Amino acid sequence: MSLKKDLKIKKLRRKALLPRILSIIFVDILLISAALFFGVIATLHIFSDALADNYKSCNAVVELVNDNYQIDDDALFKAVTEFERLSAYVEQVYLTDDDFNVINSFDNEEISFQKEFSVKEAKKCLAEDGLFRNELDDYEVMFGDFINFDFSFLNVESFLFKRDMLDSATEAITVPSGWLVLRSSLGNVNVCIKTNYPVYPATYSVLFLMAISIVCVVIFTGIYELKKIVAFIIEQRKVYKLVFTDNVTGGNNKEYFIRKSSKYIKRNPCYVLVQLRLEKYRNYCTAYGVKEGENLLEDLYNALDGALTKKELAAHLEKADFALLLASDTDGKIEERVGSILNTLGNVRQNQHLLFSVGICRVETRHDDVQSLLTAAGLAITKRTESANNIVWFDASMKEEQVWERHIEDDMEKALENHEFKVYLQPKYSTKEEVLSAAEALVRWVHPELGFISPGKFIPIFERNGFILKLDDYMLDEVAKQQAKWREEGKKLVPISVNVSRAHFARYDLAEHICSIVDAYQVPHEFIELELTESAFFDDKTMLLETVKKLKSFGFKVSMDDFGAGYSSLNSLKELPLDIIKLDAEFFRGADDLERSNLIVGDTISLAKKLGMQIVAEGIETREQVDFLAKQNCDLIQGFYFAKPLPINEFEERAYGTN
Ligand code: C2E
Ligand code: MG
Ligand code: MG
Repeated sequence: MSLKKDLKIKKLRRKALLPRILSIIFVDILLISAALFFGVIATLHIFSDALADNYKSCNAVVELVNDNYQIDDDALFKAVTEFERLSAYVEQVYLTDDDFNVINSFDNEEISFQKEFSVKEAKKCLAEDGLFRNELDDYEVMFGDFINFDFSFLNVESFLFKRDMLDSATEAITVPSGWLVLRSSLGNVNVCIKTNYPVYPATYSVLFLMAISIVCVVIFTGIYELKKIVAFIIEQRKVYKLVFTDNVTGGNNKEYFIRKSSKYIKRNPCYVLVQLRLEKYRNYCTAYGVKEGENLLEDLYNALDGALTKKELAAHLEKADFALLLASDTDGKIEERVGSILNTLGNVRQNQHLLFSVGICRVETRHDDVQSLLTAAGLAITKRTESANNIVWFDASMKEEQVWERHIEDDMEKALENHEFKVYLQPKYSTKEEVLSAAEALVRWVHPELGFISPGKFIPIFERNGFILKLDDYMLDEVAKQQAKWREEGKKLVPISVNVSRAHFARYDLAEHICSIVDAYQVPHEFIELELTESAFFDDKTMLLETVKKLKSFGFKVSMDDFGAGYSSLNSLKELPLDIIKLDAEFFRGADDLERSNLIVGDTISLAKKLGMQIVAEGIETREQVDFLAKQNCDLIQGFYFAKPLPINEFEERAYGTN
């Protein structure tokens, strides 16, 4: 699966999961907020009870002061300290005058109270905090955070307010605690009480209840929603499995293979990737039906799967291709193992002959891309030769070839437009007089970046992709144009042959087509010769015969190129009314058995002569070969001995002595 596809699936999963998770969070937040709300209400209630109790305790202290202040200091001290000891609310008690000078301390602790705020400021502060109620008649309103506050403005009988009346240097206030200044009935005596608000056990209960309800909420929503999420994840898994399951074999598909193998390879690159192809699958389906074909693929997949060991993989790719990720070993051992796998596969249908091709590519590093490895193994398959159960190892040159082919195909159209294809002419010399009597047009590609490219490197590619049709037309056109030019210049023309690829013979009007190209330059047909390669003779014989006959009737000479390179040469001679045969250069290369090949050459020449054909010997490089061919009455010689293929200007110089 492509990275993009993978990301898309992940995104979809996220998208499907996210709303569910968000809804859980939303419900949780709602229920937790409700629990918190009721908790806070309850706590506040408890707290206000505490405040009332606090109020009472402070009142009691003031009563003590009222009752004992003027009677007995000791009694006052005792009463107050005893009260302090017993009360949960009263921590420290001081008596101050109206200017907040300490008159009496019950704790033997040095303390001073400062007055810094004016009444106006105090009221303002209280108002800003929303605590001020007209008369400050309720001490609860003073439960605030005011420091160094001047209370002298309070001219009321009893205590009326409370404050955090902190001196600048007192200890940190423990929450919730604060100072209260309470007016006694004695005049110029105020009771300053450091009060404390102990946390009620009920508060703990409320907090505990709150925590319990929050936990319950989370567990409830968790269980309720989790069930839904688990069901959803299971459903997702099923979909995921479906995405990675091959719909023909029910096993792993290509996406799964790529994904899983990438993981295995990343952990340990000791693997080989094998691509296995059942040959003639279409044929099988035609004979036994598509359903049976698919059954066969399923059985093959199961057989492959059964042949795997731990941490190996098999998958059906497409059509009749399978992929295997096998543990690495020596080349020989791997081939042995693949051989035995092929045997197992062969036994899947005992009475039917199944033929397989195998491409193997070695994993080099843990970063190898599985898709590229598959392409490489697939490429190796295409290089197999025609033998049973062929196993081909991928090597880098195959890839180079592939890349080269890509470059060639990308550039060919532009090259034709830009006249990058050049006509070279290789002279053919008469054997007896040794004069230039004919020539063959051979193409050369002068590529702007790659330079000079010989035909062997691009003609086979053009033959495969059909571009050869355009190139041959171009060559014929160029040759006809050149002949016309020389004719106009009054030069004595020699026949020039052009190569006609076998692909042309698919068109029924080939002869007319050739005629029209040549006639555009009004070149007499006898000066144009058409070389058909022997491979053309394997195609539709009737069409070929028709075309050859027509070409001859139009006055063109037709020759058979590379005679002797294939098998059916003699047969072809019998069937086709050819004018010329060109003996393949290979006849003259086999130095091993010179006598034997000379015998064959001699006999072929005399046979062709008897059939009224002209003989051209190709690839002649030595004097001895020339002498031998002269003795055998060969008509023309083409080869490096006389000349290599020449650019037009050099050929012109050689043929006509001009430039
Ligand atoms: P071919 O038509 O049989 O051309 C003869 C090949 O033999 C040429 O190779 C030529 O350079 C080479 N040759 C000639 N004499 C000698 C010699 O003495 N020694 C050696 N070693 N080689 C010799 P080239 O030009 O590389 O062409 C290769 C093949 O490419 C041609 O074989 C022909 O089949 C094909 N070809 C070339 N041009 C065209 C074209 O325009 N159209 C088509 N369809 N095929 C072409
Ligand atoms: Mg040729
Ligand atoms: Mg040839």
